[in-house]
Amino acid sequence: MIKLLKNIKLYKPEDAGIQDILIIGDKIGAIGKYLMADLGGAVDVEIIDGSGKIAIPGLIDSHVHMLGGGGEGGYKTRTPEIMLTDLTTAGITTVVGCLGTDGVTRNMQSLLAKARGLEEEGLSTYVYSGSYQIPVKTLTGSIMEDLIAIDKIIGVGEIAISDHRSSQPTFEEFSKIAAEARVGGMLSGKAGVLDIHLGDGERTIDLILRTIDETEIPATQFLPTHVNRNAALFEKCIEFAKRGGCIDLTGSDDADFWEEQYGEVRVGKAIRRMLEEGVGEDCFTLSSDAQGSLPIFNEKKEYLGLGVGTANCLLKEIRNCVFREGVPLETAIRAVTVNPARILKLAGKGKLEKGFDADVCILDEQTLELDSVIAKGVMMVKDKRPLVFGTFEKK
Ligand code: ZN
Repeated sequence: MIKLLKNIKLYKPEDAGIQDILIIGDKIGAIGKYLMADLGGAVDVEIIDGSGKIAIPGLIDSHVHMLGGGGEGGYKTRTPEIMLTDLTTAGITTVVGCLGTDGVTRNMQSLLAKARGLEEEGLSTYVYSGSYQIPVKTLTGSIMEDLIAIDKIIGVGEIAISDHRSSQPTFEEFSKIAAEARVGGMLSGKAGVLDIHLGDGERTIDLILRTIDETEIPATQFLPTHVNRNAALFEKCIEFAKRGGCIDLTGSDDADFWEEQYGEVRVGKAIRRMLEEGVGEDCFTLSSDAQGSLPIFNEKKEYLGLGVGTANCLLKEIRNCVFREGVPLETAIRAVTVNPARILKLAGKGKLEKGFDADVCILDEQTLELDSVIAKGVMMVKDKRPLVFGTFEKK
């Protein structure tokens, strides 16, 4: 019930020096120096020594194909569902689930059930309504009703544009979806954000720009993702961020390969470039695209093969930001903590502060390797080993 992390270097995400964190139930009860928790033995207090370690907020992954995705190479290429420890051992305590290319054999009912299952297993979960497809296949019949009636639905996505797998929405269709998401979000007190999958087509973000130019819908309604897919697309997205939009970088488990072979912009380089360009530290997020397929097509758009995204890329990319690109840790982790929490309106998430949810990652101070993970006050991973397993995971 009560945990006291002693002498740990705190990144809130701001660097707050060495302090103690008192966790009461599923919340952070206090943060300060020399905290004591002696309740006369009436309640057990677990004391955790944090020397040589740092604490950051539990990671928020805003784009996970938790049900699996893919299928671009036929049925046997449908990718598997994510398991609890795939996320916890990657430091992820909050996850937003989405459907992708396949909105037929995967649907909103099963996505919502999967999100609820992961919540029962100890994580905080949300979902987007829809898939790549237009018209959006919702749960209740409309985007607005989904947002208003279903607590876990916080936005719409991932709607695909500029991609040969997209439904090729017209400007009118696209702007109507944005309008419905905006009003549904307002009426439900949610973000109502549109998570927009960007393909490698030459039209890049034209539909988004046209919507903010020709309608009253603001740039903040959109969270385009995979923005670092290639350099030309990324440059357009920097311009979008300068116009007040936020953009979502996609991490990679094998970023060097994707950079060399396919011209992806590595997350560390992308963040450094945005900072140099004067894009605000609040304007970007980083997600894993975990369990999403990574299909490879030739120039004729013929399928060649595919891989699967993994959740553990987030911390790899953060380490790359810090050690290879010289981005300060407190800046890099904004992309997976306070920024997605604000953009997606996730109350109690993304910060180590009194009253916030007790979602904490403990990292080695020198290597930034993950040591332990606490989700809503429960120790999920300790000394690099999972303590809590999903229902069908082997211990
Ligand atoms: Zn996508």
